[in-house]
Amino acid sequence: MARAWNFCAGPAALPEAVLTRAAEEMLDWHGRGLSFMEMSHRSPEVVGVVEEAEACLRRLLAIGDDYAVLFLQGGASTQFAAVPLNLAAPGGPADYLDTGQWSKKAIAEGRRYADVGVVASDAAGNYRTVPPRDSWQLREDAAYLHLTPNETIGGVEFTEAPVAPAPLVADLSSTLLSRPLDVSHYGVIYAGAQKNIGPAGLTLVIVRRDLLGRARPECPAMLNWETAAAADSMYNTPPTFALYLAALVFEWLEGLGGLPAMAERNRRKAETLYGFIDNSAFYANPVDPPWRSWMNVPFVLADDGLDKRFLEEAEAAGLLNLKGHRSVGGMRASLYNAVPQAAVDDLVVFMADFERRCG
Ligand code: PMP
Repeated sequence: MARAWNFCAGPAALPEAVLTRAAEEMLDWHGRGLSFMEMSHRSPEVVGVVEEAEACLRRLLAIGDDYAVLFLQGGASTQFAAVPLNLAAPGGPADYLDTGQWSKKAIAEGRRYADVGVVASDAAGNYRTVPPRDSWQLREDAAYLHLTPNETIGGVEFTEAPVAPAPLVADLSSTLLSRPLDVSHYGVIYAGAQKNIGPAGLTLVIVRRDLLGRARPECPAMLNWETAAAADSMYNTPPTFALYLAALVFEWLEGLGGLPAMAERNRRKAETLYGFIDNSAFYANPVDPPWRSWMNVPFVLADDGLDKRFLEEAEAAGLLNLKGHRSVGGMRASLYNAVPQAAVDDLVVFMADFERRCG
């Protein structure tokens, strides 16, 4: 059986070693005579795996005891509402930086619950850059400053946590675990799992404990971080199989040398693809070079009439899911942790050949 290279933005490629292990353990998990999926979430087996997942994640990101790690559901999109409901007073001020499509979604949801201030936006420039920090209009009384440090659709990424009066809340869905991160700069970090963490269905929230206990009375129990923290993420039935796979992914990451090792691999993959694109007159990436994402590389062909043929031939060559997001068109290659250098090398060989034949 030949596995194709998967460049999907999410749900994304999972490490082959993790899938193989899960397959081996599928029918009989550790001699218990049943699969992990079939066990009670209150069983010592499941509780043990969830505890190990948390411990491993804490080691990978050097998360201090002053942070709670929550395993939730509903995707990052649910956190768009949970953030204001947990942190902002009804109609109170909350600041957002607008760097692309996912910022816009967080802002739209935030407006239902808070007085949203957009501190800066690159919408007029079609989201090719990050507005300079000295142009941001921050409010002293904002409950938080919301950031999207990696825009999965636009391929715009910034890695430095800005200094701001309010706690930083970061949607790190498509960049968490791709390189080291100083968690202590953030009040809240959240991410849907289906990129670098595991399968869809699991949402990770890392919240500084002093920010717990501020939820408004109308905040649903399922969105209340304090409720989740008090119940060790077992307020209701958690997505146990997704948690088990995430635990295997964290273990795989640690075995490879953790986030510094991943950063080195990811830097090299990104350099391979951007380097090739920049040396070609046929392909182009629109993002300002300092803000180019390591994880999501959008690119266009000189003639968009060739898009369909490019995608068909790529698929035939075993290079899957290169179609850009439906809102922007073109192409996008997502280079998450589980996408190896060999996949990027094969992609570049295919792109060069396509250019020779069609350019
Ligand atoms: N934020 C970002 C940066 C994303 O990339 C995505 C999904 N691609 C979302 C939010 C929405 O995530 P979910 O589908 O888990 O709700």
